[in-house]
Amino acid sequence: MIVFGLEGTAWNLSAALVDERGVLYEKSATYVPAKGGIHPREAAQHHAEHMAKVVGDVLAHSRESGLRPDAIAFSQGPGLGPCLRTVATAARVLSQRFSVPLLGVNHCVAHIEVGKWQSGARDPAVIYVSGANSQVLALRQGRYRIFGETLDISIGNAIDKFARSVGLSHPGGPKVEELALKANRYIPLPYTVKGMDLSFSGLSTAATEAAKKHDLADVCYSLQETAFAMLVEVTERAMAHAEKKETMLVGGVGANKRLGEMLNTMCLERGARFYLPPRKFMGDNGSMIAYTGLLMHKSGRQTPIEESGVRPNYRTDDVAVTWA
Ligand code: AMP
Ligand code: MG
Repeated sequence: MIVFGLEGTAWNLSAALVDERGVLYEKSATYVPAKGGIHPREAAQHHAEHMAKVVGDVLAHSRESGLRPDAIAFSQGPGLGPCLRTVATAARVLSQRFSVPLLGVNHCVAHIEVGKWQSGARDPAVIYVSGANSQVLALRQGRYRIFGETLDISIGNAIDKFARSVGLSHPGGPKVEELALKANRYIPLPYTVKGMDLSFSGLSTAATEAAKKHDLADVCYSLQETAFAMLVEVTERAMAHAEKKETMLVGGVGANKRLGEMLNTMCLERGARFYLPPRKFMGDNGSMIAYTGLLMHKSGRQTPIEESGVRPNYRTDDVAVTWA
């Protein structure tokens, strides 16, 4: 079975062709804001402008290799409305063009499924941290249940916002990580865990304020240490509660080496195993949508055109995991 997948919930327009063994081909076009953060309408415009090239490239590869897609998967949500609509429109056209089923994929579930596929984790507690989402989840009774999540902004957004406030360009995550390596001391910042949920908005603002008085590298380091400790605390409690022996880190912020190191230490201390998919599968990519579409299709799912409307607030636990 071969599935064509299309991702474009935010900054990355990406199309891919996968089968059960691996990624056959992937092509992406990345939106980089001229200034500030991601502007939803501009990002959608970017996706529309690059759609023909990105999709055309993957289809040309599929033709040349004699690989005809058996289904078309697309990121139905959550994400930025204008971006989602651009992607869904293209996916509907492709499904009609090839007369193959359409599959609306939940973007968060796709991060989890591609992570399991590429890291070898079987039944992990999942920490999913990205530009828009921060959730700790585990599969229970046919759904990825959310054990804890952010009450305001995501960790990626908190770091990016702070980075912009001190003059670093978007996305700030990698730049903050690099600066943090040069730090000399920890500056106390607000640590906010409420039950199993997290709050990053006040932390981001406090870091911006601290940067007016302290060394930038020290603030970057302190922001990371505080935010990541909060995430590790909630992940550890989710593991204990759900009785999971594995933890897997996914999402764009998962590229951060310090976060991986902290989670790995926590897992070692619990006698559990830590899983980290290869970096290219961490940020948004078309392969994760194609692969999740493949799992859905194999379990008999499809999305009729009438049900293919975009879902900007699509929750991870809304998805019945019929393929596990
Ligand atoms: P995603 O939404 O999953 O594509 O992830 C994008 C987010 O990942 C942005 O907020 C980036 O700043 C963040 N990110 C990427 N690389 C790193 C890194 N090395 N450390 C921290 N955050 C990162
Ligand atoms: Mg994502």
